[in-house]
Amino acid sequence: MSSRCWRPDGACGPWAAALFLAVAAACRAPDPGRPILLLVSFDGWRADYTARADVPNIRALAERGVSADGLIPPFPPKTFPSHYTLVTGLRPVRHGIVSNTMVEPGFPDRFTLAAPTALDPRWWGGEPLWVTAVRQGRVSASMFWPGSEVPIGGVRPTYWKPYDDRFPNADRVRQVLEWLALPPVERPSFITLYFSDVDSAGHTDGPDSPEVLDAASRLDGLLGELVAGVGRLNLLDRTTIVLVSDHGMSQLDWDRTIFLDDYVDPSSLEVVEWSPVLGVIPRGDSVGAVYEQLKDRHPALAVYRREEIPAALHYRDSPRIPPIVGIADEGWTITTRDRLAAARASGRPPGGAHGYDPSHPSMHGLFVAAGPRLVSGARVPAFESVHLYEFLCAILGLRPASNDGDPAATRAFFAGEQAPSAAAGDTPMLFRATGNEPGWLLEIRAAEMTLLADYGERRLTVPTPAPETIPGGRRYVTQGLTATVLDTLCVDGMSGRPNPQTVTIVFDGRELSGCGGDPADLLQGAAWTVETIAGVRVASPPYPTLWFDEGGRVSGSTSCNRFTGVYAMTGEGVSLSNVASTRKACLPDLMDRERLFLDVLGRVHRFDIGPGGTLVLEAGDGRITARR
Ligand SMILES: [Zn+2]
Repeated sequence: MSSRCWRPDGACGPWAAALFLAVAAACRAPDPGRPILLLVSFDGWRADYTARADVPNIRALAERGVSADGLIPPFPPKTFPSHYTLVTGLRPVRHGIVSNTMVEPGFPDRFTLAAPTALDPRWWGGEPLWVTAVRQGRVSASMFWPGSEVPIGGVRPTYWKPYDDRFPNADRVRQVLEWLALPPVERPSFITLYFSDVDSAGHTDGPDSPEVLDAASRLDGLLGELVAGVGRLNLLDRTTIVLVSDHGMSQLDWDRTIFLDDYVDPSSLEVVEWSPVLGVIPRGDSVGAVYEQLKDRHPALAVYRREEIPAALHYRDSPRIPPIVGIADEGWTITTRDRLAAARASGRPPGGAHGYDPSHPSMHGLFVAAGPRLVSGARVPAFESVHLYEFLCAILGLRPASNDGDPAATRAFFAGEQAPSAAAGDTPMLFRATGNEPGWLLEIRAAEMTLLADYGERRLTVPTPAPETIPGGRRYVTQGLTATVLDTLCVDGMSGRPNPQTVTIVFDGRELSGCGGDPADLLQGAAWTVETIAGVRVASPPYPTLWFDEGGRVSGSTSCNRFTGVYAMTGEGVSLSNVASTRKACLPDLMDRERLFLDVLGRVHRFDIGPGGTLVLEAGDGRITARR
């Protein structure tokens, strides 16, 4: 049994608690091989800048690692939605940051990048990587990243800074190196670092301008300082650097302009966003009337009702998406005649913009990664950034929260791995289990099963044997590895998260125990009938209900109205977001029950299955209990 300890506070897991005094010294000893991950974003770096600019440090990183022809952002390819997809593996409708500017029915203020309301955790769903890391006992730090200032699920990075665009770039690098120089138990395993210069130059001067290449070259110099600093700290052999951007940039032209006021009176609309994704909420007219006024009026503007937005964009299922959305063709701007006249009068060039359909290569961003476990000198085709979270979790040896990405998409980036093939990587995951102290992960697919042990440092892949049926479960026996899976509730000792299966692995003369299966299975299936809300028993019908479907949606009755929302499994349990209800009036006591129910429901961050199969949804200061 390993005696290494990976908890930053020096505390060990339950297995060691009884022996704490005896092993305390060993637990405080640093783990010499614990991986470090630096995630660096060069905002707005279009994929082709790397070949055009003078960037020797990025080229050197690519030569000793993996680089992609492009990193395909989610829709809309804008800074906040895209950065938050990078660290959650969720598409914007599932993580909740569907745009840089948003309104939510029932929230008093709109979400904008500059306003304090953006710090309200109710906007931020899912589980960003720094929360995954902290919940699994790691130290994490953020030298800026969208969301890093917000207590998401009550958790922030261990070290973080309030965003300040004027904070000098060289000081950002210096701060990261200071964190890495901390004593091992305080040193972060995961650090984000963010620079906006290339995005700013692209907006002001356009993607083809020399100013963009100058900014790119300056950021490349900072990357060089970062790598040199990690080397001086003797940490290069355990550090993986992943360099990304959130989107590309498209050149604008005054002649490619769509005038909203040619088709509709802008004052009759609440324009949530202008361009290149137009989001409007009619003030007086019906959605249908405004839709008819805008649809098919300009050849470079596609107009949709929210529920008709093309499925490939994954951009329908959120009440934060306005009821009418227009998407401009690449390089076009949506504005009014007055606004264009003012822009031209300013004397500025038209510059660049992003936010167009992510299938345009101009929207593709940057991906270069190098580290001890990655292949060197590999160039791979463009891939979707939604897969990055799984990749980053694999580098750190963390178990990922539920997400929209696929670990097979980046499997070939790891040295000693086979490229995903139809036989292995593309077959769906049948079963996954994890355990702690030391961290391990088992994945079973139809063709083969893989065990990652010792925080990902040891790996065993074997053909999947036919399972033997045993009382209460099944067992996989193969050379060097036995996995026993019992259908009994299992609570993860570190996160407290319930799982449907209890798993024991025998490997390398060791017995590892942990939990397996999809925790969502415990929620899905038959509908739940609510019994108590915030300590108050629901005394009389109609009882509120909850139904968790397999597509990540939760729905039911509040006692008064129907409601729907989105749920996501997290490392701690479950989070619910985008909860919205119909607006029928009811008797006052039912209205009160509804208000309380929706308030508690929207803040749920973990769940338990209690005695007798009771579902307990925990919201911190209140809970909902329900039974089938
Ligand atoms: Zn951006």
